Amino acid sequence: MRYAILSDIHSNLEALSTVLDALAAERVDRILCLGDVIGYGADPTACLEHLQAREAVTVGGNHDLACIGKLDVNGFNDAARAAVRWTRNQLSIADVDALRRFPLTVTVEPFTLVHGSLRHPQRFDYLVDAAQVVDTLTTCRTLICLAGHTHLPCFVEFDRVHRRLARMLTSPLPMADLAYEEVPETWRYLINPGSVGQPRDGDPRASFAIVDTERRRVSFQRVPYDVAAAQRKIRQAGLPEFLAARLEVGR
Ligand code: ZN
Repeated sequence: MRYAILSDIHSNLEALSTVLDALAAERVDRILCLGDVIGYGADPTACLEHLQAREAVTVGGNHDLACIGKLDVNGFNDAARAAVRWTRNQLSIADVDALRRFPLTVTVEPFTLVHGSLRHPQRFDYLVDAAQVVDTLTTCRTLICLAGHTHLPCFVEFDRVHRRLARMLTSPLPMADLAYEEVPETWRYLINPGSVGQPRDGDPRASFAIVDTERRRVSFQRVPYDVAAAQRKIRQAGLPEFLAARLEVGR
């Protein structure tokens, strides 16, 4: 099976459409989405519809939950809070229903999907240091944990026997496919595909990953999209200028 791993689309229809076009050439069997489909950008409903039309398996992110009132926005910065308020007014009843159905974690062998950390999925902790990564991979019951939330692509190989990180690759990731071992007794992997709609590693191109479970290969990919169009819509919607400006620098 070939899986497309998408995360943190953040209502960016221009980025999502470009990624979906790129997937058409990739013979992908299934799309897995790690949450934050909405929030920040100007097209929440269209992004939700695209994922539903492709029967993407999707877990809920902090923005998805905040926009339907299931997560307090006190921990959000001003721009994020303003975007949550704006997004709430755009959602149809069907959108709210779809968002309510997003689980916090789901298993699609050999993957466990989560937005933040696996130990406490409802807290949406950021996996930014080695100790948190080890904690999540120790908690994970499948070979591969797929996580988003940081908007930073990464690939981690964890040796369960010796409890050490054997490989921890961050952006810029190698262009060539990465291999993984299918020995769950020994290895655990963490894959963060980066963000489709709001990359933060200094590369403004939309980020995603493809996992081929027959060949046991992961490829991290970037595609340029129409950033100016996404920015124009954010400004026209009256969303904070910061949310438009950051898209062209990828920070
Ligand atoms: Zn996000």
